[in-house]
Parts: sequence; C-alpha cells; structure tokens
Amino acid sequence: MSPTIGVLALQGDVREHTAALVEAGAHALPVRRVSELDRVDGIVIPGGESTTMSKLLGVFDLYDPLVDRLRDGLPAYGSCAGMIMLASTILDTRADARHLDALDVTVRRNAFGRQVESFETDLQFAGITDLPGADPMRAVFIRAPWVESVGAGVDVLATVPDGPAAGRVVAVRQRNVLATSFHPEVTGDHRVHRFFVDMVAGA
Ligand code: GLN
Repeated sequence: MSPTIGVLALQGDVREHTAALVEAGAHALPVRRVSELDRVDGIVIPGGESTTMSKLLGVFDLYDPLVDRLRDGLPAYGSCAGMIMLASTILDTRADARHLDALDVTVRRNAFGRQVESFETDLQFAGITDLPGADPMRAVFIRAPWVESVGAGVDVLATVPDGPAAGRVVAVRQRNVLATSFHPEVTGDHRVHRFFVDMVAGA
C-alpha cells in the first residue's frame, strides 16, 4: 500500500513537493494542523525560509506535536530550508529561530551565498546514481545551506563535485531522516522523492 506522506504547508514550495511525491507513488497530504499530522506516515519539510517557517510552526501550534512525532521516529525529508529545520545545530541563523533537532548535523545557512546565490550542478547521490545505468543527478541550489559537520550515524549521500564549494556535503541521511541542500522537487527528476517514499514504506 502507498504510504501517506505529509508536506508541511505553512510556507515554501509545498506544491512542487506534493506533485513529486504523487509522481513517486505516495499519497500526499498538506499539513497545517495536528489532525493532519496525525494521519501521515512520513513528512516533507519543504524549501522556503527557515526563520519564517520556525515562526509559523509556533503560530499554527505545530512545533511541539511535530517535534514529538519526529522523536517517535516519524520519517522526514527536508530540502534546503527543510534541511535547516531538521538539523541539530544551525550556523548563521537568527537567535530566536527554533528548529526541530531531528538530524545530528551542523548546517550553515545561506552557506553558498558568499560565492554565488544560486547555481546548478550534476552530482552523484549514493543509493541512487550508483545504480546500474543511472544518470547523475541535476541539483538546483537556491540560497542553500551546506552541512558543515555530521555526527556519528549520519551517512553522507552527496557532495558538491567541483568549483569553489567542491567537497561540501549537500545530502545526508540518519536512519529515518533524509535532507538535501538542493531542490529535487523543481527538476522533474523524482528519484530523491522515490528514495524517501521507499524509506517511509520500509519504516
Ligand atoms: N536561505 C533559506 C533559509 O535560510 C533557504 C532557501 C531555500 O529553501 N531555498 O531558510
């Protein structure tokens, strides 16, 4: 049976993730209230603006229920701002920004901004592009964070292949939690969403 995967729908590119999840074989449910959160088998935290999302989680009374479900092992995938929200430590954010602390990594917000605001590259993604015959993955970065360090038990799945940020970590997984600095929901390549749907189905 297809899992039901929520998309946190307070702000950001909710529609693109919803469409990508459906293409990847899941039922997708926008989540704005606890009754919706209660129904999902996994959740996507979309790209957008992490400090705004942090504020809205409070306004919609979703912060504590979401933290509780993540602590109970709810599978989660965060892209860009979503990666920032899931991280345990955030550099270069606002002092009052709250986050979800579900992934043992330190991320630097707007990390590429000092070099370029936005860029695209082809990269290798462990578990996806290393399958026989698989193409590299086009990755779109928009005011993106990078992962500055990872804790024990966190797998690095992708790094920037070349250029000024070569070697920077841009995709990670720790058990049921997946995060990418980039936006696979905008490229029409749904392999990352399929990877997450499989994670949820196997959880
Ligand atoms: N810079 C944004 C933030 O700090 C993230 C950008 C994005 O999600 N495209 O939340």
